[in-house]
Amino acid sequence: MISSNLPERLIVESPKRIGVLGGTFDPIHLGHLAAAGEVAGVLSLDRVFVVPTAGHPLKDGSEEASAEDRLAMASLAVSGDPLLQVSRVDVDRGIPTHTIDTLTDLGAETPGAEWFFITGADALARLDEWQEASRLRDLATFVGVTRPGYEWSGPIEGVTLVEVPGFDLSSTDVRRRVRTGQPFRYLVPGSVADYIEEHHLYRGGSDG
Ligand code: ATP
Ligand code: MG
Repeated sequence: MISSNLPERLIVESPKRIGVLGGTFDPIHLGHLAAAGEVAGVLSLDRVFVVPTAGHPLKDGSEEASAEDRLAMASLAVSGDPLLQVSRVDVDRGIPTHTIDTLTDLGAETPGAEWFFITGADALARLDEWQEASRLRDLATFVGVTRPGYEWSGPIEGVTLVEVPGFDLSSTDVRRRVRTGQPFRYLVPGSVADYIEEHHLYRGGSDG
């Protein structure tokens, strides 16, 4: 067995089936949490790591939150739920974030686990463009989750597809709503809404 040389404590404490949901999480929202929870239920996962990226692809202006703010909001969102856990591996490694490094670092922290890398339909559509696609498939089972606005083009070889409750919602939507003074509170956990207000996040930007 792979784990036979490990101290018994590690064997006992290590969860066996672990999901990984990477992203910018700027901010984390109910669509992320619903996807993580549903995949965990359908695939009987023991844990899902939420892993914010180090950097932020500039998308819609200058209002994005720092890595520490994104981590803090993700931690608030999962607090109290032993199923979901935030990992700093990508933020601590620094830019650029490559999934192969994410899986390698998490694997070193939790040896002997079986890994499931979860992506929304939008990110999954780009999987074959990922440089490391074939090596990634050795490290983890790929799990694609449905996302409103993005169609499946049919089964994808080597990818497990999971239908999740549809939240037609993105972090971009949340940021735009904050910036333009529209309601956003019930699209994110209450603790995250409080954090956004207390820290005056997403108020800048020039295209609102
Ligand atoms: P942004 O608008 O800034 O791109 P986002 O809402 O797409 O934000 P990301 O941090 O980019 O969030 O996404 C992290 C992961 O979560 C990706 O795999 C993405 O496909 C998935 N995801 C995001 N929102 C949803 C949703 N509403 N339903 C299902 N999956 C989602
Ligand atoms: Mg996105």
